[in-house]
Amino acid sequence: MPDEQEKSLLRTWDRTIYWHAFTQMADYDPLIIERAEGCRLWDIDGREYIDGVASLWCNVHGHHHPVLDAAIREQLQRVAHVTSLGASNPAAIRLAKRLVDLAPAGLGHVFFSDSGAAAVEVAIKIAFQFWRQCSDPRPRKTLYAALGDAYHGDTLGAVSVGGVDRFNAVFQPLLFEVRRLPCPDTYRTPPESASRDLTDFYLSQAEELFRREGDRIAAMIVEPLMQCAAGMIAHPPGYLRGIRELTRKYEILLIADEVAVGFGRTGTMFACEQESVSPDLLCLGKGITGGYLPVAATLTTDAVYDAFLGDYASLRTFFHGHTYGGNPLGCAVALANLDVFEQEKTLKTLPPKVTRLRERLERIAERPHVGSVRQRGLIAGVELVRDRGTKEPYPWTECRGWKVCQIARECGVFLRPLGDVVVIFPPPAISLEELDRICDAVEAGIRRVTEEGE
Ligand SMILES: *Cc1c(COP(=O)(O)O)cnc(C)c1O
Repeated sequence: MPDEQEKSLLRTWDRTIYWHAFTQMADYDPLIIERAEGCRLWDIDGREYIDGVASLWCNVHGHHHPVLDAAIREQLQRVAHVTSLGASNPAAIRLAKRLVDLAPAGLGHVFFSDSGAAAVEVAIKIAFQFWRQCSDPRPRKTLYAALGDAYHGDTLGAVSVGGVDRFNAVFQPLLFEVRRLPCPDTYRTPPESASRDLTDFYLSQAEELFRREGDRIAAMIVEPLMQCAAGMIAHPPGYLRGIRELTRKYEILLIADEVAVGFGRTGTMFACEQESVSPDLLCLGKGITGGYLPVAATLTTDAVYDAFLGDYASLRTFFHGHTYGGNPLGCAVALANLDVFEQEKTLKTLPPKVTRLRERLERIAERPHVGSVRQRGLIAGVELVRDRGTKEPYPWTECRGWKVCQIARECGVFLRPLGDVVVIFPPPAISLEELDRICDAVEAGIRRVTEEGE
């Protein structure tokens, strides 16, 4: 561990030099993690925290996992980097094959990149180029459809399809045109939907758009089942399935962004499985390496892939690449991540944890300022509101969600909120006892921030 003088320097540089993601540096309070083991983190002062956010949604089997560590060491003895531009390496080839075998049926080809945002950019560009060079070209297809409050990453294409106004407003002049469908929210529902089946209501809005402008829409992008960064907004059952049917009917490619929900988070390997959906493009990231190295992938079908084949002079090539795409270290640990899913039967261990989380959330839901709790598998959001009856939010400047997480941190649980939604997103490897401690901390935080001394 660093001595006091070193720690003080680290804190100073951390606040003044290291510009953190999505962080207001003017009031950043350094949390410097020095080591981790399983689902526990230790900061430079030796304080222990349970990792309640899975290292921002990417850790799966815990930190410092022997199998994952060994995979990187093993690969290091061979080669650390091979370009994906016209060359290859065994780890990337094997990973491509494993992903195709695991993914929903029909997704037979894998394009590697290095972040979720890049995987989304790749999907957006492939969809656009596809309609220009498929056997029945549709050059009028220049638009995308996306959901309200969607989050798909922070590069400009991903921001264009993103719908979180708080993040995007300043960049508006740089973004391309997107047709926005209302977020299929099951908590804050529009008054017009009152007498109707919610799934039908939201699907009818999609169909109306597609009927009107489907011939101009290249692709629709959806984060399946639960829009995580939007504030853990849960879709009504059948929505994804319905969108798959409508996009097929109106000849629109479906992009499923499983960067957050993929790799076991919702209880199945991929969220699409729960509605028996095969998208035309599937974006993977975050959990793909168990939270170790930056790897992302965009999977697609024969129909899409084949449209890119031809003579070099036909310019059908996908002119896109990332220097670290398919890098052997990342792919080796991604393969080990899938091995551990099998060895530890990770998906089979989930149901009791999902049940425990549900039971704990039911209790939390009874607190007077909890507007709603939303859960899909091991992902949950607890939304705090000023008034439960009217669903009136707290003024956002009061940062109630953030305060709950500060209290949780004092209780030894690391959490990060989304506005007034307290997020519980542990690694699937979490134990029941650790899950209880996370929920205890959330409950204690909510009680103090919403019930005491208002
Ligand atoms: C995190 C996330 C992304 C972006 O992934 P990065 O690796 O951070 O670029 C894209 N889509 C969804 C749904 C995400 O949660």
